[in-house]
Amino acid sequence: MRIVLASNNRDKLREVREILADSDIEVISQSEAGCRFEAEENGTTFRENARIKARAALEATGLPAVADDSGLEVNAMGGGPGIYSARYGGAETGYDIKCRMILDKVSKSDDRGARFVCAVVCVFPNGDELCADGVINGSIGLVPEGDGGFGYDPIFVPEGLDHSIACLTDEEKNAMSHRGAAFREFAEKLKNYMAKHDIKE
Ligand code: IMP
Repeated sequence: MRIVLASNNRDKLREVREILADSDIEVISQSEAGCRFEAEENGTTFRENARIKARAALEATGLPAVADDSGLEVNAMGGGPGIYSARYGGAETGYDIKCRMILDKVSKSDDRGARFVCAVVCVFPNGDELCADGVINGSIGLVPEGDGGFGYDPIFVPEGLDHSIACLTDEEKNAMSHRGAAFREFAEKLKNYMAKHDIKE
């Protein structure tokens, strides 16, 4: 099935395509579907924001659309930046600075616990909707390290590892990440949905 990924984030598109590479889902970007826009993410949860983005892409393209809304929750910041992760410190601010801001906040606390969270919502022209979620627990490292991944990866150390998730290959990250878990659950749900509705492709 061809599905539009409601995102202008090329790093996300790359990861989602890799995660779904073995499925029957063909992920096309918004620009490949002929539209480029930013839906206003005014929801109060990851799931609400994912739904807003997916519905906007469905309306613009007429195609089934899937969106993920994701972010970093830091204990020492009361769960922030959470749904504001992309906007934290300013939407145009570089991630080297955003990461430093978080390291600074966490250095004043003795709790370095954190997690990445991902909510996936897929909407269909007939109004049907599929949802999936993923989480990866870990902690905020002492210094940024690694140059893989994107965003806050250099300061996030997954539980059980000694190095940040940015030190992993894309394949290793996707195997354990919040986005990997959520999109694998989504792929399974979509397979069942297609079988139930006798959709062949
Ligand atoms: P969204 O595009 O509104 O879902 O914003 C997601 C934001 O959360 C990204 O721009 C990053 O700041 C952060 N984020 C989400 N997933 C990841 C990840 O896998 N690595 C690093 N940062 C992430």
